[in-house]
Amino acid sequence: MITANEALARLKAGNQRFMSGVRSLETDIKSTNRAGFVGGQEPFAIVLGCSDSRVPAEIIFDQGLGDLFVIRVAGNIVAPSQVGSVEFAAEQFGTPLVVVLGHSKCGAVTATLNELKNPSQATSSSNVMSIVNRIRPSIQPLFESGVHQDPDKLLTACIHANMLAATNHLRHGSQILEQLVMKGDLKIIGAKYSLETGEVTFFE
Ligand SMILES: [Zn+2]
Repeated sequence: MITANEALARLKAGNQRFMSGVRSLETDIKSTNRAGFVGGQEPFAIVLGCSDSRVPAEIIFDQGLGDLFVIRVAGNIVAPSQVGSVEFAAEQFGTPLVVVLGHSKCGAVTATLNELKNPSQATSSSNVMSIVNRIRPSIQPLFESGVHQDPDKLLTACIHANMLAATNHLRHGSQILEQLVMKGDLKIIGAKYSLETGEVTFFE
């Protein structure tokens, strides 16, 4: 297995290719080699991202079959099943890198902001509210502080805060992951994808 830094370099290189509109031959070849992965998998990175149709991890990082262990949920929130999925991959496959991937114009964060603005008009189901309630604690202070008057700037700051909160939750909400990080076997970092430019910015 490669190191966390090598894994990160592969993601960065893949995102550069995506931004320039080129696909690597290796990605294409891998994606036609279904049979080669029947016996097992060795994903080099775990990505916890949003379900947004515009942010598919394999495409924006130009990776092929078997490369990424991807967990997608609206708002890239961290609930027990997400922690469990990351623990499973990190332990089972020895994957060295976890990336929590937020993105610009996230609908789940927007919905949570709307909820904060108009709490009485809540019409969401309890299932949707379980997502909103995961996002709320990290963005409520920003909303209430009033530092960002501009709605776009407020949303951007909230998306960043939500991504950082999810990253911290993964780092400290699991003994298994905490120990892997302490031993130097796992790195957990945050990142943000820009719908506008296609670029992923990493926060190490
Ligand atoms: Zn989103």
